[in-house]
Amino acid sequence: TPKSVYRGRFAPSPTGRLHAGSLVGALASYLDARAHGGVWLVRIEDIDGPRTVPGADRAILDTLARFGMESDEPPIWQNTRTAHYAQAFERLQRAGLIYPCGCTRKEIADSLASAHARHTTLAYPGTCRHGLNGKVARAWRLRVPDGPDAVITFGDRWQGRQTQDLALEVGDFVLKRADGQWAYQLAVVVDDAEQNITHVVRGADLLDSTARQIYLQRCLHVPTPSYLHVPVVADAHGEKLSKQTGALELDAAEPLPALVAAARHLGLALERDAEADANADANANTNDGRAGSARAAPPYRSLDAFYADA
Ligand code: GLU
Repeated sequence: TPKSVYRGRFAPSPTGRLHAGSLVGALASYLDARAHGGVWLVRIEDIDGPRTVPGADRAILDTLARFGMESDEPPIWQNTRTAHYAQAFERLQRAGLIYPCGCTRKEIADSLASAHARHTTLAYPGTCRHGLNGKVARAWRLRVPDGPDAVITFGDRWQGRQTQDLALEVGDFVLKRADGQWAYQLAVVVDDAEQNITHVVRGADLLDSTARQIYLQRCLHVPTPSYLHVPVVADAHGEKLSKQTGALELDAAEPLPALVAAARHLGLALERDAEADANADANANTNDGRAGSARAAPPYRSLDAFYADA
C-alpha cells in the first residue's frame, strides 16, 4: 500500500483527563492533518508507569470522540511496544552509543552546582562516560557528540529556525531510567518512525526535546519528521496549563465553547470573530477611547482570557 504523504499524530500521556491545554494540541494536530488531506493517529503514551492513571486512556479517547476527533487507525498504547524500544536500545548499544550511569540525582545536582561557577552549563557533566568507577549502574545514557556535531538545527513551522547545542545544553541523555522504564525520548522516536509519522504537531513545551529526538533519529537511521510547536495555554501565573496544576476538565457534553477557545488560541479565524470585528468597526466611530481594541487584542495567553469569550 502506498504511504500517505502526511501522517500526523496526537500522543497524550494518560496522566488525567483531556483539559483545555491538551485540547489545543489535539485540535492543532487534527486540523493540520485534515488541511493536508492526511492521516491522523492517536497514540497513548503510557510508558511512564508511575504517572499513568488507570482509565485515563479511555476517558481521553471518549472525550476526543465527543469533540469529533477519532484516530484514523486503531490507537496504539506504548506499554504494548516495549519490545520495540528494547530493540532500538540494543541497536544503539551495539553501535557503542550508550553507557550505564551510576549517578544519583543529588550527585548530578551537586556536580552541576560546583561546575556552575566555572561554566554556564546545566548539561549532564558526563561523569560516567568513561566508566562507573565502582558505582552501580542505574540509568543508561546516549552519548552526544562533542564540538560542532552536537549542534542540531531545524526549522519549526510555527516557531521558526531552532538551534540547540546538545553537548552544552543537554549532555548525554537518559534512554532507560533508573526505575527500569524506557525514557519518553526513546519511545517517541521509535514510535514516530515505526508509524511513519511525517508531521509532528504538539505543544511548545516539547520544543526543547526536539533536538534530542532528531539526534536519536540520526543514530537510528530513521527519517526526521517536520515539526510544528503550538504555543501552550498558560494559567494566570504564566505556568503551562496541566493536570498537575489543576487544569479544569473539559465538558464533554458541551464541546463547542472549548473548541472555539482552542481554535482562537491557535489564531484561527472563525465566523464569530468576523462578527466581532464588524461590531468593533462600528464602535470605532463612537470614539470612546476603546476603539478598535477588539482587533488589537494579543493572542490569548492566560486561562481567564482563554475562556473569556468562548
Ligand atoms: N506524551 C507527551 C505529552 O503528553 C507528548 C509527546 C509528543 O507529542 O511528542 O506531553
